[in-house]
Amino acid sequence: MDGCPACGARTLPALHRSPHQCRSVLSSGRVIARGLYRATCLACGYGYQVPQPTAEDTAAIYADGYTLGAEAGVEAGRARLVRDLLRDALGGRRPGRILEIGSGRGHLLAELGATYPDARVEGIEPATALAREARERGVIVCEGGLEARADRARAAGERFGAIVAVNVMEHMFDPVGSHALVAALLEPNGVFLSITPDGERAGIELLFADHVSSFTAASLSHVAGRAGLSLVSSVALDGDLSEFRASCMRLRTCTPNAACSADRPTTDAAAVARDRAAFLGRIGDAVALERPFFVFGAGEAADLLAGYAPDIVAAAEAFVVDAPTRSAVHGRPLVALETIPPRSRLLLCVHARSVDSVARRLSESGHLVAPPPWRA
Ligand SMILES: [Zn+2]
Repeated sequence: MDGCPACGARTLPALHRSPHQCRSVLSSGRVIARGLYRATCLACGYGYQVPQPTAEDTAAIYADGYTLGAEAGVEAGRARLVRDLLRDALGGRRPGRILEIGSGRGHLLAELGATYPDARVEGIEPATALAREARERGVIVCEGGLEARADRARAAGERFGAIVAVNVMEHMFDPVGSHALVAALLEPNGVFLSITPDGERAGIELLFADHVSSFTAASLSHVAGRAGLSLVSSVALDGDLSEFRASCMRLRTCTPNAACSADRPTTDAAAVARDRAAFLGRIGDAVALERPFFVFGAGEAADLLAGYAPDIVAAAEAFVVDAPTRSAVHGRPLVALETIPPRSRLLLCVHARSVDSVARRLSESGHLVAPPPWRA
């Protein structure tokens, strides 16, 4: 065994049960024919897949046409929040060059361009359609990945005062190698701000097969150190960014030793492993409600239900939302809430951050609401 990809520990990881033996779901909503098996390092809490996806698996995931999931609309709303986090991380400095890794539809680039009008702000984005859409927004985007951008920067002697990656690093197969590429792109005083799903708490991000890394604060600290960076801070976010973690890194100025790792954040890796095992087991054990019942929601969470618990979806009368924009989803009818019978049984299928408010609203209108399997 090669040891933990984050901290290098050679202790045996905790292995988690797959939510489905031969199916898993990508964050785009697409189902692939491969079970999702995860492990947690019991030294640092880093979560990874076993076996790691092969080059063939990766090619299948990111085949042309890869796009953002059903939650893509939230990118615009989050752009200002992330801009503010970067401004805090920079502490008043105004970088001359800013790079966004995985710039998606370009909302954050546009915000950063407006906030730092004297800076050259650019993005890299491997998905052709997203890069094109971003350029139509008037921002500078190079189509391609981090490695190619780092090669070009090295050849041209370019460095960046700020680098930001929002929901990107959890997709990278080699956490240390990909952070080392970021280190190679940073100016000596540069800042790297990485927003990732919060690996300290089990959540639906564990159900996406293209999320290959679950970062805890301790694992990020190890990854940063091995990649030539120092983890300055790593905090769990709330509000519209709840379920995410903001981590700020700088170039490491000392060699890793006991003195400079003394303030390394700690993670209760055993507790994280137990939490992930319970979470991943719940969706595998999910059972359908007594019929007839409806599934409320048609976004990312509904994609997960359809992927991992197709029997439940097949047993449902229909998917229900407030205002349907199409007539069917996942092979079942999609209907408006106002058209279903009073006191219907509803299996709630929305994001964890919305479960309580949506459940309250639906209960108040007289329906019988059951939480999603991952909140049972
Ligand atoms: Zn580890």
